[in-house]
Order: sequence, then structure tokens, then C-alpha cells
Amino acid sequence: MIPRHLHDDRTALAEAILEGARRRPQCFGEYFCDDGGSCAMGAAYESLYLVPRTVGHLHPTFDLDRFFDCLEYIVRSCPEGCRKRLPLGPMILHLNDDHHWTRERIADWVKTTA
Ligand SMILES: [Zn+2]
Repeated sequence: MIPRHLHDDRTALAEAILEGARRRPQCFGEYFCDDGGSCAMGAAYESLYLVPRTVGHLHPTFDLDRFFDCLEYIVRSCPEGCRKRLPLGPMILHLNDDHHWTRERIADWVKTTA
């Protein structure tokens, strides 16, 4: 059950990931990496903020969970069945970095996870 003061913004988050994913190839282990890629969270970040094309090892200076409540308050078990149970934000990084899910697949999962 979602607390009343928090709204379910998973659809908006998924759209942000997809939007950012169209701008760069995917990378793993960092929001943005030297070869010009972004991870799923980097993609969401880039859909909200302009990021230079050659960004290097930029790490966002704010938390995306200020924009998307669901990153913190929705907790899910890993859909790959590896027994991790995390809030949506860390889970997105886990799926990107540890299971190498595509950002499109992650966005779809974010939208549809019950
Ligand atoms: Zn896992």
C-alpha cells in the first residue's frame, strides 16, 4: 500500500529511463562512463537535466529520489531471483550493473512491477 502523501510515479520514471536511453549507449557500474554511455539511472537523470555529450565520470549531485518517490518507498525482490530485496532505486542499479538488463527492459519492469 502506498502512503497517501506519496504518489506512484513509476510510469514517469520509466518514461524518463526510456527517454535518456535514446541518447546514449548503455554502460554498467556508473551513471555515466568515459565511452559516452549511461546506466538506467543515468538515463533517467539525463532526461531531467542537460548532460554534456562527453561527460566523463559524472555522478549526479542530487538524488533522483527527490523527483521520484517510488525510488525510495517501493521495495521489491530481484526479478532474477537472486534473493536481493531493495528499494526501487538500488534495484534499478542492481539490474543494470549485476544482471546487465537493458534500460528498456528495466523501464518496462519499473512500470509493471506490482
Ligand atoms: Zn538480482
